[in-house]
Amino acid sequence: MLLNLTILPGDGIGPEVTGQAVLVLRAIAEEFGHQLQLQHKNIGGAALAAVSDPLPPDTLQACLSSSAVLLGAVGSPAYDHYPGHLRPEAGLLRLRRELGAYANLRPAICFPALEDCSPLRADLVRGTDIMIVRELLGGLYFGEPRSIEGIPGSRVATNTMTYGESAIERIARIAFDLAMKRRQKVLSVDKANVLECSRLWREVVTRCAKDYPGVQLSHMYVDSAAMSLVQRPKDFDVLLTENMFGDILSDQAGGVVGSLGLLASASIGGPVGVYEPVHGSAPDIAGKGIANPLGAILSTAMLLRHSFQLEREAACIENAVSAVLNRGSRPADLTRDNQKATTTSEMGRRVIEAVKELASDAKRKSA
Ligand code: NAD
Repeated sequence: MLLNLTILPGDGIGPEVTGQAVLVLRAIAEEFGHQLQLQHKNIGGAALAAVSDPLPPDTLQACLSSSAVLLGAVGSPAYDHYPGHLRPEAGLLRLRRELGAYANLRPAICFPALEDCSPLRADLVRGTDIMIVRELLGGLYFGEPRSIEGIPGSRVATNTMTYGESAIERIARIAFDLAMKRRQKVLSVDKANVLECSRLWREVVTRCAKDYPGVQLSHMYVDSAAMSLVQRPKDFDVLLTENMFGDILSDQAGGVVGSLGLLASASIGGPVGVYEPVHGSAPDIAGKGIANPLGAILSTAMLLRHSFQLEREAACIENAVSAVLNRGSRPADLTRDNQKATTTSEMGRRVIEAVKELASDAKRKSA
């Protein structure tokens, strides 16, 4: 199969982690007989520095003509004082909108080897396997009007949360479809006691649930969900929520399973999917060679599964990551006490080694 991808390394640790993810993809292509065709383009701060636009036209064009996009992260303190539309994050929001990527899937899984990396007791976190389904093109991040107006000292800031029935219904259906392939439970998270958007959200999700009689739907306010996520994470199956609540709860889920550096994501629903680790550009550790590349590497598994239906290849990457963790390798964010940290590039090398072992085992068995 031709794997025609655009790679957007972005800022901070983005290039470090996507570099390793691309090497893993190369190993997969080699082992499973696929052809990898890559274009590297700028986004975020890197694009602002090059052409003063966080999403240059040639980057968008490359993404639109690819089968999938692999992104690192955007964001840099150098642009903190820039107006909203000229910040690195604006490039990513525009990319998601241009690609129609309304469904953000963020799995949070506790790897057995990492039970001791969670700040929670091992017996609480063991078996955690959550699929967060976050609406990605609505809510406060996109709503108009938005502004900061007035004179210094008496300025007023405005953001707008808007949700239409069709936007709620299409993301709800993604969550229910996923739940059918999992443990048949959807928890819809909102703030219906306070927000009109949430009241409509709850009504539409409840209506959609009628088409999925096998799926058990429950509702929870976001504040209560945040508490339950740390009290009993393994009770969660599919967690469906709007844009900002999903952004916050998925970082929290990263903390629960050990580190944000582990979490992968898929942004799908439009013609071209965007795959990226959940974490940001981590300027505090950029350039030190210590970033955890596993979130980016696991994002390539989601890319192969959702954009190319290559389930065997996706599982090979996930099993390789498990194997490397089982053998005791730990990037710096997952080390405890006196454990030795494995560098970004060495983690990547060990995953590739495991991919090759698993692929040749599979070939031997099928021979
Ligand atoms: P962040 O995710 O970059 O970092 C939070 C903490 O987690 C930091 O201590 C960081 O060192 C650590 N961390 C993150 N990823 C890691 C990894 N792979 N390995 C090891 N440690 C890791 O969030 P932040 O500090 O709030 O934001 C930094 C910048 O990233 C900001 O400009 C923000 O806007 C941007 N951001 C971008 C995205 C994105 O591109 N999708 C997402 C979130 C934040």
